[in-house]
Amino acid sequence: MTNRRNFIKQMATVGIVSNIPGVLSSQNKFSQNKSLMSLNNDTENLDMTNDLPFEVGVSMVDITPPVGFPLYGYPSKPSTGIKDPLYAKAIVFKQGKTKGALVICNLLGIPRDLSRIVRERAQNETGIPFQNISISATHTHTSPGITESFKEYALRESANKLTDEDKKGYFTKLINGVTTSIISANSNTSKVEITSGIGQAPGISFNRRYLMTDGRVRFNPGRNNPNIVRPSGPVDPDVSFVLFRKQGQNRYSSSLTVFSSHYVRDATEFSSDYPHFIQQRFNELFGNQHVSVFGLGPCGNINTVNAMNASTENADVKVKKFGYILADAVNNVLPKEINRNPSLEIVSKIIYLPIQDYTKEELEWSGEEGEQLYNERSFLNHRRRLKISIWGVQPPLEKLRMYEAVAPAVSGDVWYLPVEIHVFKLDQETAIVTMPSELFVEFGIDIKKRSPFANTMLIELANADIAYLPTIQGFKEGDYEAINSRLIPGSGEKMIDSAIEILESLKKQ
Ligand SMILES: [Zn+2]
Repeated sequence: MTNRRNFIKQMATVGIVSNIPGVLSSQNKFSQNKSLMSLNNDTENLDMTNDLPFEVGVSMVDITPPVGFPLYGYPSKPSTGIKDPLYAKAIVFKQGKTKGALVICNLLGIPRDLSRIVRERAQNETGIPFQNISISATHTHTSPGITESFKEYALRESANKLTDEDKKGYFTKLINGVTTSIISANSNTSKVEITSGIGQAPGISFNRRYLMTDGRVRFNPGRNNPNIVRPSGPVDPDVSFVLFRKQGQNRYSSSLTVFSSHYVRDATEFSSDYPHFIQQRFNELFGNQHVSVFGLGPCGNINTVNAMNASTENADVKVKKFGYILADAVNNVLPKEINRNPSLEIVSKIIYLPIQDYTKEELEWSGEEGEQLYNERSFLNHRRRLKISIWGVQPPLEKLRMYEAVAPAVSGDVWYLPVEIHVFKLDQETAIVTMPSELFVEFGIDIKKRSPFANTMLIELANADIAYLPTIQGFKEGDYEAINSRLIPGSGEKMIDSAIEILESLKKQ
């Protein structure tokens, strides 16, 4: 029996086959295509590529700033302590000549410059090609504010004009830390077996956009607001995972887990939030050496508060429970079968998507607090100013034009932003996809339905910082996430289409 069938059988026992119709259609492709059969898990019949050892190295490096360093926020405030450290965690994959790194940092987002500087250095130090490295964030709210000051640092870095103060400061430590995570993962790779699957954690995440009695959709309408009719969109209870076990050992040495939800705890102390407790629970289950890497699934419209039935649970208790539920969701469905036939492929593709336009009038208006331009809540009006010209947390449109976008070649045409999509294919059923922005959860559900890989793990907030990305429907409904976005409606759909094209081409090989 093929591993794929075991995977499907196992998924069937937890009742989620209907959530992943791609599994069934890809199985039809299998039976029609002999060359694909040879890539499957009939170990007597391995083809040459898959005979090469598949190696994985993992490392974690502390990137917590000194206490007192400003926390993320509007405006940022000084941090008062450390509940648990922030990490850059790297997984390096190697098979034959193919090498790549997936890095995930406990930060709010990854500025394009941070990704670029780290990837350049890591390429020089390890030989892993720049384009095969993806760096993403866990959208940790209890993390440092890395905003326009980081852009200024990066400009000095590019010009070789870092000051002594820069060299001793946090941004240098951050860049060194993330780079070191790749270098050290690269130097400790060993042959592994992989186990891939999808667990379930229903009832802990909530769509934070609600249809209200006035017919509008509103984000975070307040706990037990009597005007809530119903949530305006879905949630995704999948806990997708891949576990690595060194050959000859019986415990899992490392893992990647992906789940779609915003953080649990707001505080003035640094903390990686619930990923810390996934790590803690996996250490209990698999031993102290285990390194748990957590990737954030699309969750632009998902958080941990049920506004329709909100209870006031202690945040420290809730965050631990949340991490443990996710780790246990993995442990509960651990397949007995190991996939012994990984075949590594890494693709990076850049597509160019239009950024939103603004008028001269809007630009002038956005720079200083004054009267409202649109009839909307003052919170939204302020976010609109930030989106156009004030660097709050992500770069505003004006700065994207200045530093990141490609100017129109023809008068009146739009400005295009390069958007990078990565796919790491690990075996015939497991693929990791990364892309920038805070994607709506619908994109994660959609890619899983359409992908030919049974376990397609989409990780958001990679390699650039471009705020929210709603679906076309979400843009129509409006409110916070639609306003705090940079790309035009339809961009997320294009990114998913592009990822699907890559996934399909990898499946055919
Ligand atoms: Zn967010």
